[in-house]
Amino acid sequence: MKSFTYQNPTKIVFGQGTTAQLGELVEPYGKTVLLVYGSGSIKRTGLYDQVMSQLHSIDAKVVELSGIEPNPRLTSVKRGIELCRGEGVDFILAVGGGSVLDAAKAIAAGVPYDGDVWDFFMHKAAIADALPMGAILTLSATGSEMNGNAVVSNWETKQKRSFGSIHTYPRFSILDPTLTFSVPRDQTVNGIVDIMSHVFEQYFSLTEDVPLQERLCESILQTVIENAELALDKPDSYEARANLMLCGTLALNGGLISVGMANDWASHGIEHEISAIYDIPHGAGLSIVFPNWMKYVYAERVGRFAQYAERVWGIERGSKSDEDMALAGISATRAFFTRIGAPATLSFYDIGEEHLDVMAREAVLFGPIGNFKKLHEQDVKEILVMAL
Ligand code: NAP
Ligand code: FE
Repeated sequence: MKSFTYQNPTKIVFGQGTTAQLGELVEPYGKTVLLVYGSGSIKRTGLYDQVMSQLHSIDAKVVELSGIEPNPRLTSVKRGIELCRGEGVDFILAVGGGSVLDAAKAIAAGVPYDGDVWDFFMHKAAIADALPMGAILTLSATGSEMNGNAVVSNWETKQKRSFGSIHTYPRFSILDPTLTFSVPRDQTVNGIVDIMSHVFEQYFSLTEDVPLQERLCESILQTVIENAELALDKPDSYEARANLMLCGTLALNGGLISVGMANDWASHGIEHEISAIYDIPHGAGLSIVFPNWMKYVYAERVGRFAQYAERVWGIERGSKSDEDMALAGISATRAFFTRIGAPATLSFYDIGEEHLDVMAREAVLFGPIGNFKKLHEQDVKEILVMAL
């Protein structure tokens, strides 16, 4: 195990009806609130009205930024920064899925910064300060509710890039599983794949002697697998939605489940290049990429993949070699994704070879990606070709 420092400042308020605590959670941060949300799901479900009544109960002045896109755009972030500066916003409240939360974090970081907020995403500047932000999560997927990461698309340059900072962790996140009852089937599937992928990025590691972290990862994967089809068959199952929500939050909350381990993140890097150009849902892109990444890299530590097959998928060892076990685990992953309705190939989105070179080049813009196996441009290209 490597030495590590772990700090997570986000307060989690979990359970049915917890939106009723919003007023008291926001009040310490000031009176002018930027309310950030998406294209309208929060109005259809009635959540918007509850949020407004909570904010009015503390006499907050509410400035609204709606229409945050899935795969949030830099243009929306810049609109938010201008609004905050113009209106003297004290606190940013994000109500929605990961896209809304990520946009809110980028706005929070951009407001006190003199330069272009895109600098943070291009590693040209480090975040030194941010407006305080908080969240009400409506979709279990990204873990953005308890981490400092944001992913934003620059549509002009066709780049999708991320940052992570201690300054952009939400001060609080309200996690009410009933708010996810209305998530459509395809988005529930995307969320499930994203949660599992976050665990894969940490679990498939070369770091030795981390049995607890391995089991933390495996237990999240097992819990997601157990609850996925229940949530899909019965979208208003509180238990299934609650379990998925907690899994999503723990899967990516600043790396609690993989403290002291090297992480990978190559598949996320590759997926971001696909959605940068084709604007496909993140979880769907991961479903296409991840099993191919697994096939490409498993030989680096076949024992880890054999353990994954045995412990997560319950595949019996019998007389199988580690390699046979590893391949069986990878097949089980693909079969599960297919069973819940996640896509397997780029052709599902009519994506062909046209932009693979650009994607491969952009994926390694800041150097080789991944740790389990360091991937160079040609490796990324090969994985993309496997995914066609
Ligand atoms: P999302 O893009 O935030 O939302 C997808 C869709 O779901 C939107 O159309 C949204 O509609 C709808 N939706 C959300 N909650 C709903 C509800 N309760 N009922 C009905 N519809 C609902 O999805 P996401 O998967 O959470 O976020 C994806 C983004 O996060 C990607 O850009 C990805 O790259 C990024 N990401 C971030 C992290 C991180 O650590 N920060 C990690 C992984 C991925 P409305 O617009 O109407 O709300
Ligand atoms: Fe993700």
